Amino acid sequence: MSLVIRNGEIVTSEDRYFADLYIENEVITAIGKNLEVPLGTEVVDASGKLIFPGFIDPHVHIYLPFMGTFAKDTYATASVAALVGGTTSMIEMCCPSRQEDALEGYRLWKSKAEGQSACDYAFHMAVTRFDEQTEGQLREIVADGTTSFKIFLSYKNFFGVDDGEMYQTLKLARELGVTVTAHCENAELVSRLQQELLAQGKTGPEWHEPSRPETVEAEGTTRFATFLETTGATGYVVHLSCAPALKAALDAKKRGVKLSVESVLPHFLLDRTYAERDGVEGLKYVMSPPLREKANQQVLWDALQAGEIDTVGTDHCPFDVKQKLMGKDAFTQIPNGIPGLEDRVNLMYTYGVKRGSLDIHRFVDALSTRVSKLFGLYPRKGSIAVGSDADLVVYDPEYRGVISAKTQHMNNDYSGFEGVSIEGRPSVVTVRGKIQVRDGAFVGERTRGYLLRRAVQKAVTEASDAG
Ligand SMILES: [Zn+2]
Repeated sequence: MSLVIRNGEIVTSEDRYFADLYIENEVITAIGKNLEVPLGTEVVDASGKLIFPGFIDPHVHIYLPFMGTFAKDTYATASVAALVGGTTSMIEMCCPSRQEDALEGYRLWKSKAEGQSACDYAFHMAVTRFDEQTEGQLREIVADGTTSFKIFLSYKNFFGVDDGEMYQTLKLARELGVTVTAHCENAELVSRLQQELLAQGKTGPEWHEPSRPETVEAEGTTRFATFLETTGATGYVVHLSCAPALKAALDAKKRGVKLSVESVLPHFLLDRTYAERDGVEGLKYVMSPPLREKANQQVLWDALQAGEIDTVGTDHCPFDVKQKLMGKDAFTQIPNGIPGLEDRVNLMYTYGVKRGSLDIHRFVDALSTRVSKLFGLYPRKGSIAVGSDADLVVYDPEYRGVISAKTQHMNNDYSGFEGVSIEGRPSVVTVRGKIQVRDGAFVGERTRGYLLRRAVQKAVTEASDAG
C-alpha cells in the first residue's frame, strides 16, 4: 500500500519548503517536486496545507489509579483523541505505587495498551521505591526498550521517593544511559502546608496553589539538579510551571548539569484564578504543580521560544466531574489533573505560532522533534526525511473552531479549555503511512499502534561522538 501527499508545504524543526512525499511500507521513501508514483497509489492533495512531522506528547497518563480512583481514558479513547489532535505518538507514565512491584506494574501498564492503541506509544517507567529487587527489575525494563525513568519528589508515601532512593535511581540511570524525568516539588513542605491550611478551615480548590507555592517547586528543581550534578545522570524536569523553578533549572544548565525542561499545555494558557471559580468549576482546574499567577505565562512562552524550555507536553490526566467532587470538602482529596492530549497542538499553534509568541520551527521542535531526540526515537519519529516513519500531520491553518467537551474524543465530561477558539487543526493524520484521521474524524485502524522500543541515551551519545 502506497500513499503520496502532493502540493503541501513541509515544515520541520529546521526547514520549510514545498514538496511531495511518497510513502511505502510505513516509511517515507521519496521527497521531491512532482514525484512520479505507481498507478493505484492513494493521493492526498495538501494544497494550502502545512505538513508537520507527527507530534509526540512526552507526558500523558492513561491508565492511572490515583487517590482511590482511576483516570477516565483507556488506550482506545486516548489514542483516538491524540490522533484527532495531531499527536501520533505518546509517552505514558507507567506509575505503580510504592506498595506495588515495579515489574508487575510495568507488565500491567503494557497490557492496558497492547492491541488497544490507534497510535504508537512508549513508557517512562516510574521508580516509586528502590529496594533490593528494584535494580534488577529496572535493568529488565530498560532491556525491553523502555529507556527513561520517572521519579516523584512529591506525593509522599504514594509515588514519592526520598533523597536516598533518588540517588540510587540516578546512579543506576547513569550506568544504563537512561534519562530520569522528575516531578519536582518538596513533599515535606507540601504535606505541612496542606495540614496547616486544612486546620485553618481553608478547604476549597483555591487553596491548592498556596499549599504548593512556587518556592516549593523551585526547591525540588534545585535539589533534583544537585543530585544530577553529583551523580552525572541525565535529567528532565516535567511540567515546570513558574519563573523561580525555571531559574533553578537554567542555573543548573549553565553550570553544565545535563538537564532538559518540559512545560505542559495548561500552564501556558490557564492561571490560578481558574481554581478560584465557584462550585465544581474550581475543582476542574486542580493539577500539580498548580496553575500559577498569570505573570508566569509570559515567562514560559519566552523561555519556550528561546529553547530554554525544551518540550511541551500535556500531563493529560482526565478525571470527570464526579471524581473531582471527591474533593469538595478538602482540596487534598481532589484527583489532580487536567485533560489536554487532544488540544495541545491546536492550542500551541493558535496561541503560540499564530499570535507571534512562538516560531513555527520551534513549535515543531518542542512538540515533536526535541521529544524524539531526548527519548531515543529520532530520526524514526519527529522527522520528515527519507527512511523516517510516515507519521505526518497535514495541517489546515485556515480552520476555525471552538473547543468543547461535547465534541472532544477524550473520555471526560468537561474540557479545561471549554469555549476556547482554535485557528487551525489537522486535516489528515497518518500513522506509519496509514490515514487515521480526516478533518476531525477518526477513520482508521483502532489497533494500529504499538510499543516503541527505544535506544538508550548512552548509545545515542556514543553514536554522535563517533560520527
Ligand atoms: Zn504527570
